[in-house]
Amino acid sequence: MPQPSLKIDGARYVITVDDQRRIIRDGSVLIENGRISRVGRADELAAARADRVIDARHFVVTPGFVNGHMHISYAHPVRGIFPDDLGSPLKQVFALQTAMTEDEEYHTTLLALLELVRNGTVCLLDPGSTKFPDACLQAYEDAGVRVILGECVTDREAPFTLPRYPTAEAVARTAAFIDKWNGRLEGRLRAWAMPFSPETCSAELLQALKRVADERRTGLTLHHGSGPQARREHGGRGEKSPTEHLEKLGVLGPNVLLAHALGVDEAEIACIARTGAAVTMCPVTAAKGARGATALGRMPELLARGVRVALGCDSPNNSNHLDPVRTMNMAAIQYKDARQDIRLVPAETALEMGTRLGAAALGLGDEIGAVETGKQADLVLFDTRRPEWQALWNPVNNLIYNTDGRSVHTVIVDGRVIVDDYRQTFVDESRLFATVQEIGERLQARTGITFPRSRWPIL
Ligand SMILES: [Zn+2]
Repeated sequence: MPQPSLKIDGARYVITVDDQRRIIRDGSVLIENGRISRVGRADELAAARADRVIDARHFVVTPGFVNGHMHISYAHPVRGIFPDDLGSPLKQVFALQTAMTEDEEYHTTLLALLELVRNGTVCLLDPGSTKFPDACLQAYEDAGVRVILGECVTDREAPFTLPRYPTAEAVARTAAFIDKWNGRLEGRLRAWAMPFSPETCSAELLQALKRVADERRTGLTLHHGSGPQARREHGGRGEKSPTEHLEKLGVLGPNVLLAHALGVDEAEIACIARTGAAVTMCPVTAAKGARGATALGRMPELLARGVRVALGCDSPNNSNHLDPVRTMNMAAIQYKDARQDIRLVPAETALEMGTRLGAAALGLGDEIGAVETGKQADLVLFDTRRPEWQALWNPVNNLIYNTDGRSVHTVIVDGRVIVDDYRQTFVDESRLFATVQEIGERLQARTGITFPRSRWPIL
């Protein structure tokens, strides 16, 4: 059955992020069969008819947002339990994840999806934290988003609980996962290879998984960091740096996405650029987790070398919010302050990372990331009838510096409206909130991972 057509009519601004970066005042977008068929001024599209017309005179239209690193499945029920003086909660985080049941993960995933789509996210990559994809498939289908999934594998000891297998089994599991899941949900679901990190995987495993991804024409993502200490350790083994070591193994390439990439130096940036690998940076996680983004982050240099840089929210116990607008804001302001140079990471660049550049990093640059004829119709409509949008002269500046996801009024994926007038229809929100709160109580009781509720007395 053909999909109903949709017209976004007379938007206050359409920020296309197309090749010319056009911003169309009083702009319209026509969507047919899930794709954008026309974009232009409202008068140019005046004769275009559609099954549904959205009067967009109060709206700013942008491409839908892409989240390139999003551990979706486990943190919501325990979000915020870790006090700041605990230090890194990674050990507890992974223990809680390991303890999660299928039903718990399904509900947690639903809540994460709810938060993501209501803030304008249309596409996310979960770096292998979903343990029960069969159970969660329904949540992804109901929410209507695009998602990249994989099975997290390692074959070495890790400082925290991770799925660990003999090397051959890790390879077989990855191949089977991709073969089973890639292309589901009418193509909205992609499956990738997802080794956890170079530290927790042998060279043999990393090389084999790269081959699996290449043979299946899909992607590979892994956690990757560097820094002076890591370079010293690698130097002690006769290697140049963590990044150049990956290159030497043949594990870098255009279908590889390095998560975080904090601490890389000039030679490593050159190596990433040379191999065509992409990067997801999580600016809020890095700042909140005291990981040294301001001292070690090299986002401006990666961008200057033409590296495809996506943004990620990481997890509800890292960022902790799942708001692409706040994430783009952090990306835009973090380096300005760190280096006392206001010209770094302009608002437009932050928006590119959240849309077309992020889509390109995830291998979806031909499909999404811009409001452009022929692209899949993934759009966000921001409601400017709110104080944070006033006064409206430069919509990109307003979006990145003034606003957040609360003014997301409508979200469209593949031409289907998945958030309509601030509401979604795939889940009963108040019931879900109560369920996830109960899951949090059960998880803490079961694992014994509990903390004083607050540093201040709760009466
Ligand atoms: Zn991660």
